[in-house]
Amino acid sequence: MSKQIDIEYFLKEVEEYVRHRQVPVVDLIAVQTKDPFKVLVATILSARTRDEVTARAAARLFTKAATVQDLARLTVEEIAKMIHPVGFYKTKAKHLTRLPAALAPFSGVVPRTIDELLTLPGVGRKTANLVLSVAFALPAICVDTHVHRIMNIWGYVATDSPAKTEMALRKKLPKRFWIPVNSLLVAFGQSICRPIGPRCDECPLRQSCPGHGVTPRKGRTMEASHNHYTFVSWNVNGIRAVEKKGFVQILQDLDADVIGIQETKAQPDQLSDSLKNIPGYTSWWHSAEKKGYSGVAVYSRIQPVAVHYGLGVEEFDREGRVLALEFDKFYLLTIYFPNAGAELKRLDYKLRFDQALEEHCRRLEQKKDVIVCGDFNVAHKEIDLKNPKNNVKNAGFTPEERRWMDGFIDRAGYVDTFRLFNQQPEQYSWWSYRFSARSKNIGWRIDYFCVNKDAQKNVVDAKILQEVMGSDHCPVLLEYRM
Ligand code: SF4
Repeated sequence: MSKQIDIEYFLKEVEEYVRHRQVPVVDLIAVQTKDPFKVLVATILSARTRDEVTARAAARLFTKAATVQDLARLTVEEIAKMIHPVGFYKTKAKHLTRLPAALAPFSGVVPRTIDELLTLPGVGRKTANLVLSVAFALPAICVDTHVHRIMNIWGYVATDSPAKTEMALRKKLPKRFWIPVNSLLVAFGQSICRPIGPRCDECPLRQSCPGHGVTPRKGRTMEASHNHYTFVSWNVNGIRAVEKKGFVQILQDLDADVIGIQETKAQPDQLSDSLKNIPGYTSWWHSAEKKGYSGVAVYSRIQPVAVHYGLGVEEFDREGRVLALEFDKFYLLTIYFPNAGAELKRLDYKLRFDQALEEHCRRLEQKKDVIVCGDFNVAHKEIDLKNPKNNVKNAGFTPEERRWMDGFIDRAGYVDTFRLFNQQPEQYSWWSYRFSARSKNIGWRIDYFCVNKDAQKNVVDAKILQEVMGSDHCPVLLEYRM
C-alpha cells in the first residue's frame, strides 16, 4: 500500500466541504423523526436507490405505515405500489411485509444489537450498522459503497469488498469517526468524489489525494483528460423505465462524450422532451418496428460526420439493433445483439446476426478504425460469468455463441478492451433481477467495448461501472485517445 494519508485531515476537509450540502436521506429521516422504525424502513428502501427516489418512496409509505402495526395491515402489493420505483421494489416489499412478524420477538421494537438486527428480513451488515449508528448513536461503522470506494481511492484501506472495508476500518479508523464516516462520505461521494467522473478539479483534497484507480472528469485543470474521449455503453432495459430512476442525471454524471444505449424499448414518439433534449448532447434513435422491443440510441456531444442506421439487412434492421456514428478517424457502433432466447429458439437468428455484424465491421475497417460497443448477449469465457458449468446449454453461453466471439477476436482481430486492463474474475455487467443476484454478485459480463487491432494503441482505459444503478445491466466505459 502507498504512503498512509492523514485521515483526520481528510475527514475534516470532507466535513467542512459537505457541511452545507444535502444530508443523506436516512440521516435526514433520523433527525426529522427520531424514530428507529422509520430509520430501519428507510434504510431498507435506500439500498441500490438514489436518495431522492428513497425520500419520495419513504414519504409515501409512511403516510400509510407510520408504525409497525400500520405496516402489518398492508399487503405486499400495496407496499410494492407505494415504494415503486426504488431498486428491487418487489423484493423490498416482501421484506417489509415480513418485518412486523420478525420484530415480534423484540416486542415490535427495533433491536439495538447487530446480531438481532441481522435476523430481520432485508437487513445485512450495512443496514444493521447504519441503523445502529444513525438511529441509536451506537458505535458502528456503516460501509456504504461510497465509503468502500473512497477509502480505497485514498489508499487508507486496500480491500475488494465493503465487508472487508468495514473490518479494516474497525482496526484503524479512530472511534470518533465510526458514526459520522458514512454520512460524510456518502454526501462527499454523491457531490464531488462521484463514482463516475469525480470532480477532482474542485476537490479540497486534490493536492494530497492519492487518487488510486480514479479517472477524473474532464475538469478545467485536468490536462491529462483533454486528449481523450470517454465513451460509455449501457443496456438500460427500457429508456422510459430508467428515466423514472434518474436517467437524465445519471447521464450527466457519466460526463461522457458519447453514450451508446441499448434496449430502449420505445418509439421516438414515446420519448419525453427531457430524454430527447439532454443539455449538451444530440441524440439519435433506431427503434424496432415492434413496440416496446429492442432499439438502440446514441447521445453524443461530439458532432459526427455521418450517422448510419442498421446493417443493411432487413431481418435485423427491423429490430433496431445497430446505430453507427462516423467520426473523422473512426466509427463507433452501438449494438444490441439478439438474445438466443428460451430453448435457444433464436440461436440461428443470433448467429446470422453475429456473422452479418462481423462482415459489416470488416467493410468499415477498410476506411477507418472501428469501435464496437453494446450488449453482446454472450459471456465470452468461463471467467465472464458466475456459474459457467450450469450455463453451457443456456442462451448467452452456448458453444456456438462463444465460438463466434472467439472468432471475432482471433479471426477478425477485435480486442476485448476490458481484458486489456483487468484479468480478475467476478467482473460482471449484468445480473438477473431474480434471487437478489446483483447484491450477491451472481452475474455475467456480456457488455463490451471491442476495437479493431489497429485501434488498440488508442485505448487508454476500460472499466465496468458497477455502481451505476437503474437497469439490470450496468454501463461499461472506454477511454480512447484522440
Ligand atoms: S481528489 Fe478526486 S479522487 Fe481524490 S477525493 Fe477528491 S474527488 Fe475524490
